[in-house]
Amino acid sequence: MNFSILGPIPSAEEILRRYPLSQSLRTLKHERDEAIRAVFNEQSDRLILVVGPCSADLEDSVCAYSERLGRLQERVADRLILIPRIYTNKPRTDCSGYKGILHQPDPEKEPDIAGGLLALRHMHIRSMEQSGLTAADEMLYPENHVYLDDVLSYVAIGARSVENQQHRLTASAISQPAGMKNPTSGDLSVMLHAIYAARQSHVFTYQGQAVKTAGNPLAHAVLRGAVNKYGQNQPNYHFEDLKILAAMFDERQIEHPACLIDTNHANSNKQFDEQPRIALEVMHSRRHSPEIRQLVKGFMIESYLEEGCQSVNQHVFGRSITDPCMGWTSSEDLILRIADLA
Ligand code: PEP
Ligand code: MN
Repeated sequence: MNFSILGPIPSAEEILRRYPLSQSLRTLKHERDEAIRAVFNEQSDRLILVVGPCSADLEDSVCAYSERLGRLQERVADRLILIPRIYTNKPRTDCSGYKGILHQPDPEKEPDIAGGLLALRHMHIRSMEQSGLTAADEMLYPENHVYLDDVLSYVAIGARSVENQQHRLTASAISQPAGMKNPTSGDLSVMLHAIYAARQSHVFTYQGQAVKTAGNPLAHAVLRGAVNKYGQNQPNYHFEDLKILAAMFDERQIEHPACLIDTNHANSNKQFDEQPRIALEVMHSRRHSPEIRQLVKGFMIESYLEEGCQSVNQHVFGRSITDPCMGWTSSEDLILRIADLA
């Protein structure tokens, strides 16, 4: 094959030995997982908010952000479960640019995968310690889930991965809720096939072994808007879209149908400051229709300390280097408004 070997990468055993999870963090994860599961199993009517930067680019700013979220969680605990978005690997439209801390522990330096694996686990654990929250990450490379399985409370399967068999089979093996995004084309049946697939048991190869999975009953939908054949963004969070999705779940007789609304990406046309309007419209649709209220379990919101985005060499602390995000003040305001309406 046409590549040169850059070096070995540490095994999950090595990295877990280097950065183990303390007993108190294990307890925290257990309690949070139970609370989140109760939402998807319809034993709790709290809403789930997966909220945070598009990419978790620097440990200090990411942890400062989740610490604020942790304090806010205490104020909204009866209505909301806040899950920091700590996305350590980024799918890029044409595979160029920053690919996340996994590839580049320092976004301005050359790729260093071995260093990135250490850095991402270190960041997740520090965020848990500082915030009292367990996080979400995107499963871009299914084989790498083993590095974070014991720390994550939520796993997203991105729009560019959701049709891929290895992602679906691996999602059937994990205990976290797996959020299946609609593909960029917007075809909802692809997303529903992914949910169906992840909920079943499968035999496949994982980490060099043949494995049999249990099936993941917490696999659910995430609507992120679509891009049409002219490259134009088309939202899919409106009342009619949610009605159609509810009918599609019903038709397939999927137990406990659930979806989160991604308020950014093709839903906002990446206009980050449209996210409050989008979330509040969905809250209105939930009030109007009991079916939509049952279906929509929360939101995925892109938010960081400072609003907007910047290029990698600008160095504003807590401003996104990938998709533009809401800043802290408006994010806090939105979270409190959602809590009021929940
Ligand atoms: C993201 O959540 O930042 C992202 C890349 O989402 P999507 O897979 O929907 O494009
Ligand atoms: Mn993004």
